[in-house]
Formats: sequence, structure tokens, C-alpha cells
Amino acid sequence: MVKCNCGAIGIIRTSGTKRNSGRPFYACLLQGPRSGFISWVDEENQKHESESQNLELEIHNEKLQIQNRDLEIQNEELEIQNQNLKMLLIASWVLLFGIIVYKW
Ligand SMILES: [Zn+2]
Repeated sequence: MVKCNCGAIGIIRTSGTKRNSGRPFYACLLQGPRSGFISWVDEENQKHESESQNLELEIHNEKLQIQNRDLEIQNEELEIQNQNLKMLLIASWVLLFGIIVYKW
């Protein structure tokens, strides 16, 4: 709901000026349309639209951060696996070397 600076609610009125003929706007309930202009209805709607878009982007951003964390965990697990494989490779070389030496 749109409110005036004085705290009263804004009611929708239609502009009668040449420049904005027929354009709806919010006017203070107490002060009337002339002195109590608050904002244009379409501009107010745009504001709300961009606010909800911002919220959507924030949610999207949070999802990406969670995905990012998951990938980091996966990455860490793969690094551990990688290290284990390296150890296994070294162990098998040592074993192979041992067998060769033993046979000679
Ligand atoms: Zn007012």
C-alpha cells in the first residue's frame, strides 16, 4: 500500500492535467489530489516489479552459492581420491621393483 508522508493512505486518482491526462496516481487521502500527490501508479508498479526481480536474483544467487559449496566438497573428495591413487601407484612401483630385485 502506498502511504503519504503524513501517514495517511494514498488513494488512486486520475490526472486531469494536459501533460498526464488520464494517468492514474496516488494522492493523500487527507490532503486531496492537488497538494497531496504521492506518486504515479505505473511508477509505483515498476518499483515493485524491480523489487521482486531483485528478490528472485538473490534466491538464484543463494542457490548458486550452495551449488558452489557442493562442488568444492566434490573437488576435495576427488583430490583425496587422487592422492590415494598416487600412493597406490607408488606402492605398486615399489612392489614391482622389489619383485625384480628378488628374482635377480
Ligand atoms: Zn498526506
